[in-house]
Amino acid sequence: MKDHNQNHAAPQSPAFARLQSHLEQAMAYQTALILLEWDNETLAPREAGPYTARVQGTLSGAYQSIMTGDEIRRLLDACQGEELPESARAILREAREELERLECIPPEEYRAYQELVSESTRIWAKAREDNDFEAFAPTLEKIIAYQKKFAAYRAKDGQKLYDVMLDSYEKGFNMEKLDRFFGKLKEELVPFLHRIMESGVEIRDDFLVGDYPEEKQRELAHFLAEYVGFDFDKGVLAVSAHPFTTNLHNHDVRITTHYSDHVDSSLFSVIHESGHGIYELGVDDSLTQTLIGQGASMGMHESQSRFMENIIGRNEAFWVPIYKRLQELFPSQLGEVSRQQFVAAVNKVQPGLIRTEADELCYSLHVLVRYELEKKLVEEDLDVRKLPGLWADYYEQYLGIRPGKDSEGVLQDIHWSQGSLGYFPSYALGSAFAAQMYAWMKKQMDVEACLRSGDIGAIVRVLREHIHRYGKMRESRRLLKDMTGEDFNPDYYIRYLKEKYGALYGVE
Ligand code: ZN
Repeated sequence: MKDHNQNHAAPQSPAFARLQSHLEQAMAYQTALILLEWDNETLAPREAGPYTARVQGTLSGAYQSIMTGDEIRRLLDACQGEELPESARAILREAREELERLECIPPEEYRAYQELVSESTRIWAKAREDNDFEAFAPTLEKIIAYQKKFAAYRAKDGQKLYDVMLDSYEKGFNMEKLDRFFGKLKEELVPFLHRIMESGVEIRDDFLVGDYPEEKQRELAHFLAEYVGFDFDKGVLAVSAHPFTTNLHNHDVRITTHYSDHVDSSLFSVIHESGHGIYELGVDDSLTQTLIGQGASMGMHESQSRFMENIIGRNEAFWVPIYKRLQELFPSQLGEVSRQQFVAAVNKVQPGLIRTEADELCYSLHVLVRYELEKKLVEEDLDVRKLPGLWADYYEQYLGIRPGKDSEGVLQDIHWSQGSLGYFPSYALGSAFAAQMYAWMKKQMDVEACLRSGDIGAIVRVLREHIHRYGKMRESRRLLKDMTGEDFNPDYYIRYLKEKYGALYGVE
């Protein structure tokens, strides 16, 4: 996808070439900011914090002044209406959106909000530690008020405020679409989960916890990342408190993991982050270090990580060529455990209170709770003081368990303290995108045969061909449709879960 033909037909405009050089400067600041952020999370010494923060402040100021400068504005207008290749048009679209995003909020308000947010994460962390929602409630109230105000600035033609928020994470997925999606999950998965819990089937998983030496886990992590296709010439694997992926560009992608006495925790987080990483590494070189040189959206990113982690990594066929290796690394822990036992254990369904520890089946029900509450907060002015009670009621209703304290309930996620309202649904959408891709892929090729023969590359190539190489050039909804021949359809996700877990638990 080098746009060669299009370039010949329409020689690149001088205005666009000049715009590119300004954007390149802006990207350089952005790249430095990302690198500092990575450093903060992995290697930076504790006392560096406030000093690095000042550098970050200066760099992001420089970034903003380039992006909102007269020159870029003038060049964007000059490019308007020119005949440009698709990638150039996508860059223009992104630049314009970024400009609007940076400009729509009055600077004083933005500064006050930034101050609030830089405090709020700390207030939230303390409140969680003390299990004291009341201590966080006034701050949360202010954040929501700001977010609603900012959404109102950006709203177009009577757009609902929560729709504006949702749109900034996953374009084209508004409440109307998500109500249908989450409605189906509720209707189908809640009773299905109930049948599983009533089935009486007991799956043994005690062997996943124990004395798993860290250096062996590290060896396994490197092996697995490489095995699924993460390229260590263009990527690194480090340790951080919570696993994440950072990408500077498609020749420098960094993933992290976290080691504990639960061997499956690091193991699957490495496969998950590798999925994110492989997506970034697969972006076409013609898009490197441009505004569209990264994954299409939050949801599309989660689709790639969850495809790798759940659909591939928790598939029994995946372990056929490599389970022996795992047993060799941990002979006393797994030597007597069969591959079938191991795979059943890593797919065990167990409703819990914490989203980030949820199994594949329960995961989207955790997201459902947050979606319904955010909708009420933004669209129905729900009093934040009612949140803890409603949270507990919804958990009881959907997952059959009730948090005993707010630190295991409404206070568990960092997102609201950072002002990220509308973010959660993209996690569930990612899983559903992945299931739709999988259903389509199974019609094109024998996916399980590839897994049994250790040829993960064949699967990655298909994902690269249809998704990765486009970066942010096309929207996620279009990528999904172009690949599978069908608009987003949540039925695939429900069918996938019911087939997989129905078989494991002998229920329908
Ligand atoms: Zn992820």
